[in-house]
Amino acid sequence: MTDTTIMKTAVTPDPAPGDAAALNNPDAEGREDLIGLSREQLAGRLTAMGEKSFRAGQVWAWLYNRGIRDIDGMSNISKETRAKMRERFHISRPQVSRELTSADSTRKWLLKYRDGQEAETVYIPDDDRGAVCVSTQVGCTLTCRFCHTGTQMLVRNLSAGEIVGQFMVARDSYGEWPTPNETGRLLSNVVVMGMGEPLFNYDATVTALRILSDPEGLALSKRRITLSTSGVVPRMYDLGNDVGVNLAVSLHAATDDVRDVIMPINKKWPLKELMQACRDYPSASNARRITFEYIMLKGINDSDADARQLARLVKGIPCKFNLIPFNKWPGSDFECSDWSRIERFSDILAEQGYSAPVRKPRGRDILAACGQLKSESQRERLSQLKARRAAGIEDDGHGDAAAQ
Ligand code: SF4
Repeated sequence: MTDTTIMKTAVTPDPAPGDAAALNNPDAEGREDLIGLSREQLAGRLTAMGEKSFRAGQVWAWLYNRGIRDIDGMSNISKETRAKMRERFHISRPQVSRELTSADSTRKWLLKYRDGQEAETVYIPDDDRGAVCVSTQVGCTLTCRFCHTGTQMLVRNLSAGEIVGQFMVARDSYGEWPTPNETGRLLSNVVVMGMGEPLFNYDATVTALRILSDPEGLALSKRRITLSTSGVVPRMYDLGNDVGVNLAVSLHAATDDVRDVIMPINKKWPLKELMQACRDYPSASNARRITFEYIMLKGINDSDADARQLARLVKGIPCKFNLIPFNKWPGSDFECSDWSRIERFSDILAEQGYSAPVRKPRGRDILAACGQLKSESQRERLSQLKARRAAGIEDDGHGDAAAQ
């Protein structure tokens, strides 16, 4: 991976007439998708049609507050305007290929996009509320060794609409339209912790976060949105300035020696730089602490010395830990730490003043637990790659690149 991966790209401009490539997720008839346009882009498209500026607010509310899927249902907009809109726009949802509900009520959707690629979304309930875990890429360029998704090569980035669409599918599934009050929602939180490294798909992710948190639409408070990164340091600074959602960091090791091995991205942005970026994260405070995720790997990162080193590492950062028992997946060569070891590890961190609860494994029976997400796009991609290699054709650059 090169630095060009993290260079800022321009937000999708208003398209020139006939410029299909600049259109947002056009359908077979060349009509642009309304889902995934930023509020400014939507306003620009509608004023270009001759509509007054208030129209964008009305359309926005139909899309994201009411969850409407048909332009004709926008009953406070004239028939004539709706007809003009139908000629230019459509409203998309990812197609649900499979929906599975675990014995513990965790629900997982395998979603298919227009080009046939698939990504997974999970809802993790917690009494009368819960978090929707969304993906930002199909596959991942990184190769964190404990992660099932990390065995899946990057197929492509998801667009803003494809990211927001995952949350909207979850709302469809639970019938949470129109947007309920904040206190009365099952789908109360969003965690950007599914497939992929969100900060390697920065612009689409930020646009999606702005749509999710718009108070006149899906209306998720930024306090209820958490983005998890493996440690793309320059983008952590951008994220803090651009949207300021809660931050989680996949830490998983207390030393560079161990982290270099289990998370190769550490060779590019080692712990010292990563910790500085956490210290500098603008919205981190005692009320909004950074979460450090730490997967418990037997004999790798789970000693008493690791716990003490961890406490030294994060000194001065408003933070908490989330200890994650490793979920074994087919082909993995790690074991989960023994329960007594995990408890001891948690106790040592608590003695040092850090909250370090152990995350209850959820959705194991449907492979929806942390680090287990992986879509069928993987198998398709691998078999294509093998066929290409067998035929002596060069790899096309989407190989299994580590971040070093
Ligand atoms: S943990 Fe996240 S960044 Fe690492 S391989 Fe898995 S999906 Fe990619």
